[in-house]
Amino acid sequence: MCDDCLIILKLGGSVITKKDATEPTLNHKNLDRISKEISESSYDKLVIVHGAGSFGHPFAQKYGIGNEITSTSELARKKLGFSLIQNSVKNLNSKVCEYLRIHGVFSVSIQPSSFVLTKNKRIYSANIDLINKYLDSGFVPVIYGDVVLDEDQSIKMAVLSGDQIIKYLAEHLNPERVILGSDVDGIYTKDPKKYPDAELVKLVSSRAQAESMIELMSSKETVDVTGGMEGKLRELLELADLGVESEIINANKVNLIKEAINGDEIIGTLIKRRL
Ligand code: ADP
Repeated sequence: MCDDCLIILKLGGSVITKKDATEPTLNHKNLDRISKEISESSYDKLVIVHGAGSFGHPFAQKYGIGNEITSTSELARKKLGFSLIQNSVKNLNSKVCEYLRIHGVFSVSIQPSSFVLTKNKRIYSANIDLINKYLDSGFVPVIYGDVVLDEDQSIKMAVLSGDQIIKYLAEHLNPERVILGSDVDGIYTKDPKKYPDAELVKLVSSRAQAESMIELMSSKETVDVTGGMEGKLRELLELADLGVESEIINANKVNLIKEAINGDEIIGTLIKRRL
């Protein structure tokens, strides 16, 4: 443990929303419990990043944000989708911040679509000085998966995943640890929801191991627009290159978020730094 250290915590859309719902549906129970766990844990500085779940994915798929635009009517339809999604994920973020505040966490909302631009769907400009200022002032910034403008004129708009935000923040804020709370115990040899014989990979300790896991997942996984577990591992592999350790844990299990923030050893997948 170190003084004045930063932890980046991701709350998966699968945890804070009912991800398979066709309408935006909050998981009130999880959000309330997790906010309480965060308020009871010890940290110096904390940034929370959350996914969009049912507040974003159904719309992103319907309007094809991030796909090539081939006509003016399609552009108009995508703009409608963009506006809809931006509003929907903002509502989710507002709820997350509210639950945190009710439990005594000084949450402050940071909206990616108001300060992030992408190029070919990767963040290329974002001023994160303000996030640092909030951290130094004792706030907990809460950032989230959003839609953003893209410099590539064939797509013009992109979906920015919480997982990509984490990688960008880690690159610029130098966190001690990154914790990803999902709805499974960690990364398995295959999707544990589809294959009961899937085995949990507790430690990713080499680049070759990570790359073969990504290859296996890309052949099996039906991913959502933000990349699913494969997308997560890709981003975390880049974090490892930056010298940041990360762990994926099951945020549906009571107290695991709290224990992970406290630095306790818990079941999950640990991705070592500098693979
Ligand atoms: P979140 O919303 O928590 O960020 P995602 O829904 O994007 O997470 O990804 C988590 C999901 O990925 C799990 O619910 C699981 O069903 C699926 N998945 C697919 N392949 C794997 C795998 N090899 N290991 C773990 N989970 C996997």
